[in-house]
Amino acid sequence: MSGQFFIQLLNPGIGLLFAVAFFLLWLNRRDLYVAYAAGAYTASAIAFLILDVGPALPYELHRIPANIGFLATGALFAAAIIGRYGLPIPWRSMAVTGAASMAVFLWFLLGQPSIGGRILSISIGAGIIAAMVVRALWPLDKRYVIDRVLFWVAALSALNLILRPIVLLSLGGGFDSYDGFQQSVYWTTVQFSQAMVSILAAISLMVAVAIDHIAELRQQVDDDNLSGLLNRRGFEARAGSALRRCIDDDRPVALLIADLDHFKRVNDTYGHAVGDMIIAAFGAHVRAIGPAEMVAGRIGGEEFALLVPGAGIEAARQLAEAVRTGFAAACADRIPAALVPTASLGIAVEVPGAGLSALMQEADQALYEAKRTGRNRVRTFTPKPVRLAVG
Ligand code: GH3
Ligand code: MG
Ligand code: MG
Repeated sequence: MSGQFFIQLLNPGIGLLFAVAFFLLWLNRRDLYVAYAAGAYTASAIAFLILDVGPALPYELHRIPANIGFLATGALFAAAIIGRYGLPIPWRSMAVTGAASMAVFLWFLLGQPSIGGRILSISIGAGIIAAMVVRALWPLDKRYVIDRVLFWVAALSALNLILRPIVLLSLGGGFDSYDGFQQSVYWTTVQFSQAMVSILAAISLMVAVAIDHIAELRQQVDDDNLSGLLNRRGFEARAGSALRRCIDDDRPVALLIADLDHFKRVNDTYGHAVGDMIIAAFGAHVRAIGPAEMVAGRIGGEEFALLVPGAGIEAARQLAEAVRTGFAAACADRIPAALVPTASLGIAVEVPGAGLSALMQEADQALYEAKRTGRNRVRTFTPKPVRLAVG
């Protein structure tokens, strides 16, 4: 058994291993893009098996399913990456490209046989499909390293597929027969670079799956299901970093703390379920009227905090008043008509040097004032005047 035989098994083997791995991942996490990746590696394994160790058919006809398999690999892989971003998958363009490249391939197989022509037709077809991924990902904000890695994997694949045959064919001068082809520098290079790109792509996609999974879990840990806002943990983490960004950029920032009035009485009179409904309505109301940049969380049973980057005292007061005055209407369709829930709010604006907890304490003091002076109102924290010693 020659060493060449094992090299031939390299790509089918890699394909099968990753197909199984992505299939298992998909069983665990039913994301369509993971299924596309499993499909891509299955198609790649089958295509290389047909070509490298399958029986040769008359007129080289076995090359037809093998090359359809290569194009399918490219299309499914493109679908996996594009699908991860929830972008529309260009199935039609990929099908047209695949069909065109198969048509040219068939011409160079049956019409005017030329190995070089066949290589160019399939490789460039697959390269154009890879370039569709580059085009789809181009306008995205590639915020995380993994997004840039996936982009570059697609770009490298496109370059590899389009340039490799052109360069190697112009260097090697083409092939006269398949006997030469299987042992050629070209085919060895294809097998080797394909194996590398396959592994690189699989590892990148697996890391992407893991990152998506962690992000989803992290989101669940930070979210409050009832109000649809962040929970205390999530609020403190995100408000903390938003506050630091504002301080760094020298932007104003305000913190509002809201507490629903006489909520114990609401629960006692109308039941806990109605109380829950009001908390949910308050969350929806705040999300609906707050600015996009706002970080909002339920930090206690019926207590909420809103950090508003860019808001000075006046903007904060306006938002607080809008939250307060619109609250009852936001609940109206879910609760008994006799019940008119109200909320009290306290505001504090950032003063240089104070952290999130100091800001929350000040807003809390203002909230206490709002409660003390009758509830259903907004109060702003005012620092105690510093007495200057005169004399
Ligand atoms: P105040 O106007 O002074 O804020 O009066 P309050 O009754 O709202 O104040 P207190 O803090 O004494 O009571 C809060 C109540 O909120 C107690 C609890 O029954 C209720 N509560 C806390 N979490 C939830 C929740 O998740 N769902 C419901 N339905 N009620 C909750
Ligand atoms: Mg309360
Ligand atoms: Mg309370």
